[in-house]
Amino acid sequence: MKTLGLIGGMSWESTQTYYRLINQKVREQLGGLHSARLVLYSVDFAEIETLQHQGDWAATAEILGAAARSVESAGADFLVICTNTMHKVAAQIEEAVSIPLLHIADATANALIKDGVTSVGLLGTRFTMEQAFYRERLQARGINVIVPDEAQRDVVHSVIYEELCRGVINPDSKAAYLEVVSSLADRGAQGVILGCTEIGLLIKEADTAVKLYDTTEIHADYAVQLALGTQVQSE
Ligand code: GLU
Repeated sequence: MKTLGLIGGMSWESTQTYYRLINQKVREQLGGLHSARLVLYSVDFAEIETLQHQGDWAATAEILGAAARSVESAGADFLVICTNTMHKVAAQIEEAVSIPLLHIADATANALIKDGVTSVGLLGTRFTMEQAFYRERLQARGINVIVPDEAQRDVVHSVIYEELCRGVINPDSKAAYLEVVSSLADRGAQGVILGCTEIGLLIKEADTAVKLYDTTEIHADYAVQLALGTQVQSE
């Protein structure tokens, strides 16, 4: 088994989901008392969030690049950044180390392609929904990306930072999210990407008829396949 290197804490609410899912998946595949061999560097999210909203992505890349070097020197074989948004600086983080990065949008694109999805809705932070770094990675794989309208993006973004990253699960926010999901389906999305690693804490597959692609689940699954050498190569 390879050693996974997680960069987490963005927020820790979703990092604990990664930790649980990765260990559960290793146990399912290897049985008995098997658990994942992993290194976790968990950042102080307040620093990251402040820099994000100031637009100082270079400073976030410095912090995460240093975290990646720590994870590498602690013995990790590859990197998993436990957030969609911070893949904005994925290239700079990759440059800081010599181990490979398992990109969350690539893992998600693989899952969409496997299901034959060519048009998908995207929920996430404003950064993820509005900037090119995430959408273009999916578009490069032939997937059309539909984002919520301006007012909806505002709700989706503020629920992430004001509630989900603070461990607050609010039924009104859940209803608002489900409305956004169905409006994306009405606009032609064959499924919706939960493109923020905390959204799975709020809405689940059973809450809607629309197919959901939870990036935390998909990313954790792909990381375990890579660690165990069981991954199926995609195009
Ligand atoms: N965990 C979130 C994501 O997947 C948002 C927090 C962050 O800004 O990193 O994008």
